[in-house]
This record gives sequence, structure tokens and C-alpha cells, in this order.
Amino acid sequence: MVQGLPEGLGPLLEYLDEIGYSELYLPAGEGAAPARAAAAAGAAAPGFPAPPLQAPHLGAPELPAAPPPREGGPRPALTALEPDSGLFGPAPTGHEDHGSLDALAEFASTCTRCRLAQGRTSVVFGSGSPTAELMFIGEGPGAEEDRQGLPFVGPAGELLTKIISAIDIERESCYIANIVKCRPPGNRDPLPDEVAECRGYLDRQIDLVRPKVIVALGRVAAQTLLQTDQPLGRLRGHWHRVRGVPTRVTYHPAALLRNASWKRPTWEDMQVVRDRLREQGEP
Ligand code: URA
Repeated sequence: MVQGLPEGLGPLLEYLDEIGYSELYLPAGEGAAPARAAAAAGAAAPGFPAPPLQAPHLGAPELPAAPPPREGGPRPALTALEPDSGLFGPAPTGHEDHGSLDALAEFASTCTRCRLAQGRTSVVFGSGSPTAELMFIGEGPGAEEDRQGLPFVGPAGELLTKIISAIDIERESCYIANIVKCRPPGNRDPLPDEVAECRGYLDRQIDLVRPKVIVALGRVAAQTLLQTDQPLGRLRGHWHRVRGVPTRVTYHPAALLRNASWKRPTWEDMQVVRDRLREQGEP
């Protein structure tokens, strides 16, 4: 959501950004993406400088190398994070075990790495099967998610459940997480430093679950995971890799609630995902 712009302009910029208008029809630097980025950075529009979205802070903190993608073979054992990796801030005692999702969730539950900790009710770490073949990654918790401590349990979550069942998969068999684990105030986009501070958790979740396919839901998730400022329209329709895992980009369910015409392309994206999962399931 775009903040700090005249009423009505934010949703318009968001819409133009979703459809890739800035990329396709405007000279570089004059599109919606720079406008949104500047707005997120607190710059006044118009006349703001256009900060590059592909900033170094979007890069993930260094983690142990991702294991190779799981293509039907056995799940190799994962090592715990090195106690001295420094990834999650406070000096570890050496007794932590981040080799399981539960242990990592427990560790994240007291996280104060960024300002989002101040306004949260819950850390929304993630939910679903730790051995999921399909992983969905959204942007960040909303109000209902913050209240319940679970991802995608509000209106967008209900739609996500329907999207998953439309490809004959049970939501409980998937793993669902977000780019940031704490709710940004007013559901604004997470800021680059908040994304950067949280990235280690998500990377570790991906490595632990080792899904066969990741679906990035919406622009923020897609651009963050793929470390690009390309619009959603450009990122859809191709396979990408995130930590070695084949990754598809589609619309965020909340966007579908605002614009029903994006349901069909989302359905097409999900069919491609379903087919890939089926292919990989074959011996
Ligand atoms: N939107 C998201 O991106 N994530 C949630 O968990 C809920 C809504």
C-alpha cells in the first residue's frame, strides 16, 4: 500500500505498478515503481528523487549455502546455523538449534531487530507443513494475522485457501510465510531495512522446508525474493529460482479482491505451478 501520497493517487500508482505500466509505457525513472519507492522512503511526490529499488540492503544476510533443490530425492540433513554466524543479532549462547522450523519460530518470537517489533501483537512466523512441496510467500501480516499470529487468515487468506484448493491441494499441506514477520503499521509496504532484517528468517524457512515450488504472492514478495525492481507483469510468466527452488510469481490475493480481472491470470499461473508439481512427483 502506498503511503504519504494525495488520496487516490496511491492505489492508482499501485495499479500502474502491478500492470507494469511504468516499465512498458514511460521513460525510465518516470513510472509508478519509482514513485512508490520514493513514497515508501518518505519522499514527497512529485519531484522526488527516484531511489533504485535494487538496493544492496535487499540482499539477504549471508547464510550457509542453500542445499540443492529437492526434485523427488531424499531430504538431506540440514546443519544448524553456525552459532557465531551473527545472523540474528544477539550473541547466541550456543544452545540454540535453528535446525528446525519450531526452533527458529521460537527464536523469532522475541525478535526486536526492527521497528515493526514495537507495534506487533504477534510475530507471524509461518504456518503449514514443514515438509511442504509448495510454499507461498506473501508480503507481511495484516491486522487479523497480527491478532492470530498466523499468516493469511484474513480476507486475503480466505481467497488464498480457495486458490490452493482450485489446484486440488490442501492448504495444510503447503507452507505459508511472509517477507516480514511483523505487521507494518497501517498495512504499508515493509521498508527496505525491515525487509533486510527479516530476510534471514525467510531464507532459513525456505532451506528447512525445501519445497519443490515457491509461489511469490504480489509485487513486494516477488521483487524482494528475486532482488529486482521489475514490475509484477514482467516477473509473471517465467520460472525463477530462489535459493535453488523453482519460483513462480502471481498476483497477491488482496489485489484480486480489489481487481477481479486478475483472477484469470492467477488461475493460469497456478495451473503452471500444479503441472510443475505433478511433473516433479513422477518417478
Ligand atoms: N497479506 C500478506 O501478504 N500476508 C498475510 O499474511 C496476510 C495478508
